[in-house]
Amino acid sequence: MERRPLLAGNWKMHTTIAEAEALARAIAQTAIPADRDVMLAPPFTALAAVGRVLAGSPVLLGAQNVCWEEKGAFTGEISPAMLQDVGCRQVIIGHSERRHIFGETDGMINKRVAGAARFGLVPVLCIGETLEERESGQTFQVLERQLRNGLLDIKLASGKELVVAYEPVWAIGTGKTATVEQAQETHHFVRNLLIDMYEKNIATQMRILYGGSVNPDNVDALMSQDDVDGALVGGAALKADSFCSIINFKKSA
Ligand code: PEP
Repeated sequence: MERRPLLAGNWKMHTTIAEAEALARAIAQTAIPADRDVMLAPPFTALAAVGRVLAGSPVLLGAQNVCWEEKGAFTGEISPAMLQDVGCRQVIIGHSERRHIFGETDGMINKRVAGAARFGLVPVLCIGETLEERESGQTFQVLERQLRNGLLDIKLASGKELVVAYEPVWAIGTGKTATVEQAQETHHFVRNLLIDMYEKNIATQMRILYGGSVNPDNVDALMSQDDVDGALVGGAALKADSFCSIINFKKSA
């Protein structure tokens, strides 16, 4: 099945509002091929400003995390209703930095996915193994646990309602990328798990992004793999030139 590629930029804890506006403007002004989607996830402080820059462009606004409650006493959190209000369409959930630095559990991530879905936001659910887990042969076990627990009781009517991002922790921000064979093998495993969890037409419609040191030099080869449907990009998304090259990837023969 043909899946529309998604190139997503995770700006993490970077950019002032003025820097975010300039970066978003440069990306929105580039020629984006009509056959793919682009999403930018700036920090919360810049969402409104970047949303205004992106108005009228096909580039989607996304956020980097979300709470499960609509409102209330949840100091430091942001609600799905607030993200919807500011114009977000997608939200990254379960990023490895949330799991490993801030101790987010699969249970918490599952609640965030449910909250986002309840408000019509598309969750971009991140999963990935550490180097130790890969080297001790536990990659598939870890991914299965993260996926099944993260999606517990999440009903989907279409594969477009959820995006999965496979991000090996050892490849994030390290300059080490999974080989194309490792990426395809793992994405294929994730696809089969999704087929087991959802109807086949839903699972085959769902996009599985690769994340981990994606750059203009490795994106073509990664995007040429059958089950790699896009990229979640950190460092290389902070420069308009490199992110625009990534957006304009060409599948190698
Ligand atoms: C990320 O932030 O999700 C990421 C993959 O970062 P980087 O591209 O810098 O490895």
